[in-house]
Amino acid sequence: MDIKLSRYHVVTQPFFDEIATQFKRVLFATRTANVRVIDDSSWTLLESGALEQLPKNMLLDLVDMELLVPSDEDELATILDRNDAATLDDDTLFFSIQPTAYCQLGCHYCGQEHRNKQMSEEDQQQLLKRARTKLATKAFRTFEIGWFGAEPLVGLPVMRQLAPQFQALAEEFGCRYGSKIVTNGLALTDRVATELFYDLGVRTVEITLDGLAEFHDVRRMQKSGLPTFDKIFANVISLAHRADLNDIHIIIRCNVDAQNYESVSSLMIKLAEEGVQERIQFYVAPIHSWGNDAHKRSLSADEFAAWEIKWLSEKVQLGFPTSFIPSRKAITCMATRPHAELIDADGLVYNCTEVSYVPTYGTPNEYAIEHLSGQPMAGKRDRLGDFNSRVRRGEYGCPSCPMLPVCGGSCPKAWQEGLDPCPSTKRNIEQRLLLSYAVSRIQQQQAMSATDAAIPDTEEALSYV
Ligand code: SF4
Ligand code: SF4
Repeated sequence: MDIKLSRYHVVTQPFFDEIATQFKRVLFATRTANVRVIDDSSWTLLESGALEQLPKNMLLDLVDMELLVPSDEDELATILDRNDAATLDDDTLFFSIQPTAYCQLGCHYCGQEHRNKQMSEEDQQQLLKRARTKLATKAFRTFEIGWFGAEPLVGLPVMRQLAPQFQALAEEFGCRYGSKIVTNGLALTDRVATELFYDLGVRTVEITLDGLAEFHDVRRMQKSGLPTFDKIFANVISLAHRADLNDIHIIIRCNVDAQNYESVSSLMIKLAEEGVQERIQFYVAPIHSWGNDAHKRSLSADEFAAWEIKWLSEKVQLGFPTSFIPSRKAITCMATRPHAELIDADGLVYNCTEVSYVPTYGTPNEYAIEHLSGQPMAGKRDRLGDFNSRVRRGEYGCPSCPMLPVCGGSCPKAWQEGLDPCPSTKRNIEQRLLLSYAVSRIQQQQAMSATDAAIPDTEEALSYV
């Protein structure tokens, strides 16, 4: 069989390994998200097609990780076919629910318009009926609820009514129940955290902190202008120290633009000083357009990518769980999952999380695809949902991008709005690969010196040297 080097790969510049005294590169096969370290001369042979000069076990491995593929393969078609298959095989019914249209905060980059409105009793009943109908259409393995805002904890009375009934539905249909909340954290007291875990089945909590108080409080203040950092930070620390809530996965998101990027490191240090770094998944996200001009204050994509490498290194040093290498991503987001939807407090149904309550999208919202009452809406699921077909037709920049298998194409809505949705990994993947390699070497050597053993060739699992 004729084979060729897959177009879906990233390789670093050569670097000199002082222990092995040779030049090497880190190689990333994005089709399978596999990483190898390879000596530079083998890479030269690989790149030039002189495959017969490479050792057989190396060739077999490279075929196995799909770095080498059949010469006549249409690789874009393969990846998109697999993505389509993953969409069809998706056995999770996911509902993102906005129990209220209100939020106590007035973040300056928020594109939503908030109202004092909770999901009505009637819409709750329709929602339960909708969940039952969907669960009956297919053998779902998981029924997953994401509580989302506005601020979902303002809608706690609605959550209290719905969550037990969702749990009962999951049990009735033999599904695993999963639940996550994305909250500003202001109302996440000890008592509320206890209720979320024990009564409402929540297992993941994502909270946003935009740096230390002096940065956070000028961006994520209450609508009244009052600060929020101290209260939210105290709630996070208390939650992270609760031994009985150890099964709650805590995520801290730090939204960054030119106004606050300097505070990311200080926030991580403050969390580490509280001793919670091992309990927290910390990540930094660039501010993007939310139907508004918020992205105009953003760092440039290159600046963000460079800062992110610094933050990743600091995370490792401080002891946060850190991953550098993206995984295979066959389903880009809710928009391309045929059964997933977001339901807002007005009973409107969407297949995107970033459009509800956004006045720019009109009244009724142009993205709404249905109403719980059955009333038809102008929006169409396919507007965002046929993203893979559009990529297949070559509409966006993804077909020629080596990151497609691990990116999935990012945000269909951003592409349609003419924005650049490429994740930072596209820009800093080489630094990530090198950082990952350096960290693994250091960890291996530390492990060796801890056992007083001689330092072996530490890359056996990864390399071809
Ligand atoms: S289309 Fe974009 S904004 Fe909407 S859910 Fe997908 S990634 Fe999020
Ligand atoms: S969104 Fe950007 S990084 Fe992702 S596949 Fe498309 S072009 Fe590549």
